[in-house]
Amino acid sequence: MCSSCAPETANGTVNGTVNGTTTNGTTPNGTTPNGTANGTRQSRQPYQSVADAYSNTANFKIIESTLREGEQFANAFYDTETKIKIATALSDFGVEYIELTSPVASPQSRADCEAICKLGLKAKILTHVRCTMEDAKIAVATGVDGVDVVIGTSQILRDHSHHKSMAQITETAIEVVQYIKSQGVEVRFSSEDSFRSNLVDLLSLYQAVDKAGVNRVGIADTVGLATPRQVYKLVRTLRDVVSCDIETHFHNDTMCAVANAHAALEAGATHVDTSVLGIGERNGITPLGGLLARMIVESPEYVKSRYQLHKLKEIEDLVANTVQVNVPFNNPITGYSAFSHKAGIHAKAILNKPETYEILNPSDWGVKRWIHFSSRLTGWNAIKSRAEQLGLIINDEQAKQLTQKIKAMADVRPLAIDDTDSIIRSFCLEHVPEV
Ligand SMILES: [Zn+2]
Repeated sequence: MCSSCAPETANGTVNGTVNGTTTNGTTPNGTTPNGTANGTRQSRQPYQSVADAYSNTANFKIIESTLREGEQFANAFYDTETKIKIATALSDFGVEYIELTSPVASPQSRADCEAICKLGLKAKILTHVRCTMEDAKIAVATGVDGVDVVIGTSQILRDHSHHKSMAQITETAIEVVQYIKSQGVEVRFSSEDSFRSNLVDLLSLYQAVDKAGVNRVGIADTVGLATPRQVYKLVRTLRDVVSCDIETHFHNDTMCAVANAHAALEAGATHVDTSVLGIGERNGITPLGGLLARMIVESPEYVKSRYQLHKLKEIEDLVANTVQVNVPFNNPITGYSAFSHKAGIHAKAILNKPETYEILNPSDWGVKRWIHFSSRLTGWNAIKSRAEQLGLIINDEQAKQLTQKIKAMADVRPLAIDDTDSIIRSFCLEHVPEV
């Protein structure tokens, strides 16, 4: 019968049964060299990374820097109210740390930093300053939980930015780290441009601040040149040299930021810097959503237990509106086409079992998959499913005939969803007898 039409979805999607799950029965891996117990791995899927004693892919923390690195994005301007909104949303989402612009940057930056510290958010609040005693004192006075200090260590930055020798850098770093620690505040020391720094210089410096009691050392690919293999090598080497945690910061100039963060965690890094939609200097850093898309595949229990994944879209929309950009169509998870399926062969399998063509489960993130049925690539399973959504029952043979008709029309011109629905309805009127 063709008479009664069920309510349609607004976007013309065929929402097949969302019964898939990307979970794979594994639990977090072994024990990290810095003594963090992670549990025991029970089984492994082929797409999981190889876990060893160094890997923290199921035991990492996010330092969310939309309010620091993200403020360096070309379009970014945050008033106090917006900063509070973003900080609150990120804390509710579950990120462990929120990093704020240096209070030394401007009087308003300092006031905002103090205001966010007073909110009593669940996430720890950090600010990011130069490695000087003056900056460190102002940072500590704002009431932050932690101070991230940074200084350039590559020859090019030493020659053209701050003109300090490695000996001077080390001396100041120890003094600043010890001061911040003495104030009962967490401290991270990071080099800038780590991948263009001399390895021996870098390791000696990290070793010195580790001995001085730093909580984390940071590796930063400030110019976005590193590859996952280079990252793995450097972090793994560093892991054997220091006992403190290791934070990592990857720029995305050559589109390796997510892969580099993943490689760093495999090699023993403990913290990853992210920003919402990856906004930051130039084309930004590791995006929060992209990192979690990567990590949920191999550590589903860990990721789902720590982060409110269904809030990701809301946070991305908030930040996109604030900095006046659109969420890219191919953004992981929330992009327009992230869960759209068009080819007939894909649609058929997805309707049958979503895991056939989806490594991520849209329902984990509170978003819907979209099966495209208005094109010449469509298959009869998608058309039959669409007819059912419209309250029209057809058999397989009829669905195949109807699909040929739709393909013929779609060969001539693009079809809107309404066009296809009209073809389906008139076919049913003609071919399906009233009961
Ligand atoms: Zn950066």
